[in-house]
Amino acid sequence: MTWTGKRVTVAGLGVSGIPAARVLRGLGAHVTVVNDGDDERARTQAAELEALGVTVRLGDGATLPEGTELIVTAPGWKPDKPLFLAAAEAGVEIWGDVELAWRLRATPSGRAPAPWLAVTGTNGKTTTVRMLASILEAAGLKTAAVGNIGVSLLDAVLGDEKYDVLAVELSSYQLHWAPSLRAHSAVVLNLAPDHLDWHGSMEAYAADKGRIYEGNQVACVYNVADPATEDLVRAADVEEGCRAIGFTLGAPGPSQFGVVDGILVDRAFVADRRKNAQELAEVSDVNPPAPHNIANALAAAALARAFGVEPAAVRDGLRAFRPDAHRIEHVADVAGVAYVDDSKATNTHAAEASLAAYDPIVWIAGGLAKGATFDELVEKSAQRLRGAVLIGADRALIREALARHAPEVPVVDLDRTDTGAMSAAVREAARLARPGDTVLMAPACASMDMFTNYIKRGEAFADAVRELASERD
Ligand code: ADP
Repeated sequence: MTWTGKRVTVAGLGVSGIPAARVLRGLGAHVTVVNDGDDERARTQAAELEALGVTVRLGDGATLPEGTELIVTAPGWKPDKPLFLAAAEAGVEIWGDVELAWRLRATPSGRAPAPWLAVTGTNGKTTTVRMLASILEAAGLKTAAVGNIGVSLLDAVLGDEKYDVLAVELSSYQLHWAPSLRAHSAVVLNLAPDHLDWHGSMEAYAADKGRIYEGNQVACVYNVADPATEDLVRAADVEEGCRAIGFTLGAPGPSQFGVVDGILVDRAFVADRRKNAQELAEVSDVNPPAPHNIANALAAAALARAFGVEPAAVRDGLRAFRPDAHRIEHVADVAGVAYVDDSKATNTHAAEASLAAYDPIVWIAGGLAKGATFDELVEKSAQRLRGAVLIGADRALIREALARHAPEVPVVDLDRTDTGAMSAAVREAARLARPGDTVLMAPACASMDMFTNYIKRGEAFADAVRELASERD
């Protein structure tokens, strides 16, 4: 494609829009950025882009600029925006930041582009992508964890580093806007309702996630415990010879990865998969060895093995992996009770996974429910609950689910949404817990009613635990 003189509209100033505008301008395109907001920050950013010859329209993200031949949008912009409706009417193609990176990846130096190993799913994406990058590095490959984890794909594909392979995290939004992406191999880790307001329906959400399998060359990796992911593999158009590879926490069948006697095994990329299995690592090599995290490790291993990585590198990579903060992070033991921060459990599916990893639990939960219901989560976890402490705006929804499905579990409803409530919650939890228990902050809700984000919420929890520990010393 020739970019010189091409009229491209970039939708949204922001983490993806600004680099996209710069790169496209650098290639000689006529770039117009449209942005809904018109605040101080936007004006500063606009001035910087205008100095490069980019046109910026602040306060008007709805009107399609005259002569637009292509739109490059920020992934979060909803498909039903007037700008996109106007584009559809005019027959203008719409790409997201991922599509742009994919299309540009061979230019400018003409070097062979690094293949992509791609990861999506409702939960576990970041963890899996980091595990995968750790394994690839252990195999001596030059790689990076990029995409939705906050590292720009455009930088990765156009920068000076020569990567052998990229570990790419993709959100459902990014996949929606990436029509021609073709990964070497990919996984959908799991599928639970999330972001339905954006996608419009569960079917549309699943279909966008399923885009990750389109055109895969070597392996479509799915979750045996989540048949919806296998359905997406079946629906995908893939390259001749590309295989469907399952992962399971149980014993693996042929063409699957699984667990046998505490060992992670590969029954897919072995000589005779009906008879043979390849030992990869021990469950204790996975950090932390909670069931959902073992599933993440198996998915990462499957992608790495699809790329030809040796078994020893899978083990070494998993051993070297350190989880990011606020994801089932052990903060401290106080008076024989473990305190675990899973602030990143911002939806019920994530909280369910971490509640399954401990027993007995004093559960700290609540926040913004984002339209979720809690009956299934509470029903599945009731047996393991020693008690629950509720905080945040939508705590009544959880209290009612507890009353319905776990009436015998003691519940402290803090009736607070101020930032200091976390300290009170930790004290109440400490009161309910007995030695050997785990106090688990896995709120199943977003944090923005009380905190700036999940990170601040996790820090407030950790501070409160440390305060408690210093008093008990
Ligand atoms: P994502 O990038 O998809 O948000 P993360 O790896 O950051 O995922 O994990 C977010 C949260 O999701 C974790 O704190 C944990 O509670 C939960 N989680 C992680 N892996 C899984 C999984 N495989 N299944 C269900 N929940 C998971």
